[in-house]
Amino acid sequence: IPQDRLRNFCIIAHIDHGKSTLADRLLEATGTLTSREMQAQVLDSMDLERERGITIKSHAIRMRHTAEDGETYALNLIDTPGHVDFTYEVSRALNACEGAILVVDAAQGIEAQTISNLYLAMGQDLEIIPVLNKVDLPSAQPDIVAQSITDLIGGDPADVLKVSAKTGVGIDAVLQAIVDRVPPPGGDPDAPLQSLIFDSTFDTYRGSIVYVRVKEGTLRKGDPITFMATNAKYNAEEIGYLKLGMEPMPELTPGEVGYIIGSVKDVQDTKVGDTVTHTRGGASEQLPGYRDVKPMVFSGIYPTDSADFEDLRAALERLQLNDAALTYEPETSAALGFGFRVGFLGMLHMEVVQERLDREFNLDIVTTMPNVRYSVELTSGETIEVENPSEMPDRGIISEIREPYVTAQIITPTEYIGALMGLCQERRGTYITQEYITTDRVDLQYELPLAEIVFDFYDKLKSVSRGYASFDYEFIDERTSDLQKLDVMLNGDPVDALSTIVHKDKAYDMGRRLCKKLRELIPRQMFDVAIQAALGNKVISRETVKALRKDVTARCYGGDISRKRKLLEKQKEGKKRMKQIGAVEVPQEAFLAVLSMD
Ligand code: GDP
Ligand code: MG
Repeated sequence: IPQDRLRNFCIIAHIDHGKSTLADRLLEATGTLTSREMQAQVLDSMDLERERGITIKSHAIRMRHTAEDGETYALNLIDTPGHVDFTYEVSRALNACEGAILVVDAAQGIEAQTISNLYLAMGQDLEIIPVLNKVDLPSAQPDIVAQSITDLIGGDPADVLKVSAKTGVGIDAVLQAIVDRVPPPGGDPDAPLQSLIFDSTFDTYRGSIVYVRVKEGTLRKGDPITFMATNAKYNAEEIGYLKLGMEPMPELTPGEVGYIIGSVKDVQDTKVGDTVTHTRGGASEQLPGYRDVKPMVFSGIYPTDSADFEDLRAALERLQLNDAALTYEPETSAALGFGFRVGFLGMLHMEVVQERLDREFNLDIVTTMPNVRYSVELTSGETIEVENPSEMPDRGIISEIREPYVTAQIITPTEYIGALMGLCQERRGTYITQEYITTDRVDLQYELPLAEIVFDFYDKLKSVSRGYASFDYEFIDERTSDLQKLDVMLNGDPVDALSTIVHKDKAYDMGRRLCKKLRELIPRQMFDVAIQAALGNKVISRETVKALRKDVTARCYGGDISRKRKLLEKQKEGKKRMKQIGAVEVPQEAFLAVLSMD
């Protein structure tokens, strides 16, 4: 198919507005999927993604469509991850396209990710095709929502496509709009090769499979290739298009989207955003915008049973093969033993990894409180990065601590503005602007320390707005803050895994609430357990878990045997999620106490 009949597009939407369902309908309408192959939301391949309704890794799929002019077009749908944690991956995937379908739920209207994704797409100069979905719903308000969309992006509300991805109404018009409105890709087939990596997956037998969009030049099967970011060299042993599976082709020309397999054993060589070129006579410049993604949120992950340490390492290694953004390095905690400090792009990414360790690898793990990365300037003039609160140096040798900040976009019905502003203020937020999207919905912008939103901000936001507000954020920079390390001691021994970094103004309150929560979470033992919070050498709060009076099993002696066994079994189960710290048994929940404080 000639270059002027190629169309590369993606679908962007707030979560649950129907991106996956629309993708399914397009695949069906173009005959890309037979009904036998059809299964709901075929593009979301991981179980977890399907359950949570999010697409974590992007994929691409090629469709053939005969348009109104009688010509056959090749339409490449590039599926983008939908969540803020993956913003960089979203922008790389968008960069592989010329157009974006903006899906908005006709009943819900514009939400935070509608806007953040739209801004990303406009930043890449994509042609935006607005589509109102779910017009079949009785609660749909197509006219009002269409108006609010055109208020944002311009144009006539009458031109906003109205579809139901559920019933199939309006799908043909979407296909025609892609042909008519998305510009064909540019690029010179004879120029030096520049192809953008927008995703990769790892195959045990074939190595890294790299998904690329050819921007300039022509890639032929067998060509020696170089990954420019790492200067790693391979041969393009197999290349081709992405249909439901992979379809080998002899060459990939400008504008084409496809895959490269080259026995790449090291996934670190195939970084999203990198440029693949020819080893001989290749391009001298990388495509713009490449950056190494850095994790933003860190947490300690420890096996509950220290014998599982090597299994945990193997599991993290496996996960990293398909998730180059995941980082981990061994660390030792006096309290928890051997484990790893794991870096994530954000909270969702962290939850997903934890759940996969549990479900796919059946590992029993203890996770410590997530924290951000701090840049610490020492009085010696040296700057260090602190990814683990227990490694924060003594205050005496610190001249400055900087923490990451984000801009947050909150979209809410007007009645919750006050409550949400209160929440942001409490989280050390700085008000930026507020704009009305419709008469009763507002786009509220704040700058906030990332540390203040990684814990429970999302839950709080949902609760103060009765679930109506939506939220998205983006990293901006690092700023100086008055931060201190808060230590926790159990029976006088500091527990490194319970250390946190807190703002000076919140330290006392935090110490008090943390001790109280720990008192609730730590079960009674054979002796009193003293819980103390301290700033430096100064104890600021204390609670006591009173000793247990009776032996748990005592009352069963001589009694019903099976009942005693049951009780012991139950205890054993409970134990699995306990960690022994000194003489004190501490449950997993205690390490996340901050998350459950009110
Ligand atoms: P995504 O998170 O944007 O990928 O959204 P999904 O495609 O997973 O859809 C979210 C929910 O909305 C699912 O329960 C879909 O069945 C439902 N849905 C999607 N499109 C429509 C539609 O046109 N009409 C109705 N009534 N429901 C829809
Ligand atoms: Mg989806």
